[in-house]
Amino acid sequence: MKFYTEEVLSKINNESINVVAATKYFNSTEMRDLFNTGITHFGENRIEALLEKKTDLADLDITWHHIGTLQTKKVKKVINEVSYLHSLDNLKLAMEVNKRRNEVIKCFIQVNISSEESKHGLNVNEVIPFLESIKDLEKIEVIGLMGMAELTSDEDVISTEFQKLNDLQIAIKNELDIELKELSIGMSNDYLIALKHNATFLRLGSVLFKKEV
Ligand SMILES: *Cc1c(COP(=O)(O)O)cnc(C)c1O
Repeated sequence: MKFYTEEVLSKINNESINVVAATKYFNSTEMRDLFNTGITHFGENRIEALLEKKTDLADLDITWHHIGTLQTKKVKKVINEVSYLHSLDNLKLAMEVNKRRNEVIKCFIQVNISSEESKHGLNVNEVIPFLESIKDLEKIEVIGLMGMAELTSDEDVISTEFQKLNDLQIAIKNELDIELKELSIGMSNDYLIALKHNATFLRLGSVLFKKEV
């Protein structure tokens, strides 16, 4: 598999942006090659795959992320294997993470910003009450917001959706006096737009191995 890491990083052109490779496309051998192109943050959706790949790549200094849906009943299998959780979106999940995790874990609250039908993520107006409801869970450190824009070529639609998170960051600062600086937005289709909306973590898959998507 040929990787286009260099091309992608030159377009991002900002070393403080964290590129998290979405590893669902890759097996362990491909991930080792990808690591050697300079990517050190890996985000997996499937628990079994994450555990297997982590074992295979134990000799590499990788930062592991869980991205995408995490079922409450599966928390205990994976929560101590990752440094970041990108998909915190309900109280039951938060309580289970808090119970099973040994140390503090950095979390993003997943927010449903797309107008597409989706079960995942809190609605924008649910985020502040949710933050209040989890504030005493000592293993959970909310560092930011995560969102997925609609899969469309219409840049205005994507921009409007990302802007919801920028507005929410301000509302959280005003109402709770909490500064959530990190933003996990931007995938292959829209990472350059995400950068204009203060993305700090990009979750990239296809663009790393397809010349342009
Ligand atoms: C697959 C995946 C990505 C990356 O997808 P691409 O469009 O291929 O860049 C990002 N986030 C999540 C949650 C994913 O499942």
